[in-house]
Amino acid sequence: MRNFDYIITGAGAAGLMLAYRMAKDSFFDEKSILIIDPEKRKQEDRTWCFWEADGGEWDEIVSKSWNSIYVAGQGLEKTIPIQPFTYKMILSTDFYKKIWAVIESKSHIEFQKGTVRSLEADEDGVRVHTDGEHFRASKVFNSISDYTDYKTQKKYPVLQQHFVGWFIKTKKPFFDPSTATFMDFNIPQEGNTRFMYVLPTSENEALFEYTLFSEKLLSKETYEAGIKDYLEKRGITEYTIDRKEQGAIPMTAFPFRNNNTKNILHIGTNGGWTKASTGYTFYNCAKKTKELVPFLKSQSDLRNFDSSTKYNGYDLLLLDVLANDNARGAELFSRLFDKTDVKTLLKFLDESSSFAEDLSIILAVPRVTFTKTLIKRLSSFLRPYKRTL
Ligand SMILES: Cc1cc2nc3c(=O)[nH]c(=O)nc-3n(C[C@H](O)[C@H](O)[C@H](O)COP(=O)(O)OP(=O)(O)OC[C@H]3O[C@@H](n4cnc5c(N)ncnc54)[C@H](O)[C@@H]3O)c2cc1C
Repeated sequence: MRNFDYIITGAGAAGLMLAYRMAKDSFFDEKSILIIDPEKRKQEDRTWCFWEADGGEWDEIVSKSWNSIYVAGQGLEKTIPIQPFTYKMILSTDFYKKIWAVIESKSHIEFQKGTVRSLEADEDGVRVHTDGEHFRASKVFNSISDYTDYKTQKKYPVLQQHFVGWFIKTKKPFFDPSTATFMDFNIPQEGNTRFMYVLPTSENEALFEYTLFSEKLLSKETYEAGIKDYLEKRGITEYTIDRKEQGAIPMTAFPFRNNNTKNILHIGTNGGWTKASTGYTFYNCAKKTKELVPFLKSQSDLRNFDSSTKYNGYDLLLLDVLANDNARGAELFSRLFDKTDVKTLLKFLDESSSFAEDLSIILAVPRVTFTKTLIKRLSSFLRPYKRTL
């Protein structure tokens, strides 16, 4: 059994960002690091978008950015400048290329093709069992999603941000490439929270994503019929589809961090790094891996890395509302975009807002609904204690 200081299981966004940061920090030059994944991803398998203020560390691979967003819904239709934020898009091919170039230049970081079957903690480390081989490390960072935990529990609602996207090209110029459509709720809601997300990359190219925040996935035909209908209503009937993408990202306030152990840290979506109320993950992976590097230099118990914050409570409440009455999402988000300062809202969703800013967002939500949901949630937390009395 080969021994390593660190093993990263899963070479997707989170695993690769962590390996990249370790590769760039001389503290880890003396450490042996193994990355395990069935494949070394290099292909265009997703686009990542996020917003940030000022210059960012990924700017050299940002393929398109927007300074304004468009939101439309119940009684709302707004194009909003978002400075100092910029909404940015990264193609996975550019991300993988940049990251692997750095990782592959380091001889102390190895890549092993393999499917991890189990992690087994021992005295002072972790054994990693793959299909054919077995490895051991002092610390393991695991980004392989394990759905059993959060999908089988009943305490926290589990919704998904699910979508199908078409990258289309038109002959005629149709789009305004300076504005990204963040959420357009002007589509039939069918009892759910449904919206179109549109990213125009030029006057005749755009990504159209038919998106839901809801519990159950739809058939592929339903998402695609939704995109087709949306295009037709805007007079876009002549186009080619260059590429398609599809995704289902968990939205839950389930405390993933409780699964961490002294020597195993769950990272990425598997570590709860997906923002529960929006599904955004990329920027959180960047933030968390940045924090993890200094943490590893000074601490050894990985259970101390992630802790709960006020945002876990906010996310839980919003998801409770959406889970209890999924059809209310359009009203709720329209209201948030209408009644709040969007830059403050972006800070809030980015988990960098002050308490006063939180309050300005909280005051904009439908008070009766949220108060009822809060009372229900608080009483559900009290229930186990009542039973033991
Ligand atoms: C199409 C799509 C678009 C998205 N767009 C955005 C966006 O715009 N903005 C945003 O913030 N988020 C977005 N997300 C959500 C999120 O950012 C991504 O899912 C992100 O890739 C999550 O990173 P991760 O490392 O947790 O998981 P992944 O990137 O999925 O990496 C997990 C890795 O584990 C490997 N693996 C799985 N099983 C095993 C096993 N048994 N053994 C070894 N390795 C294994 C996989 O091969 C994979 O490489 C999108 C997701 C999808 C699917």
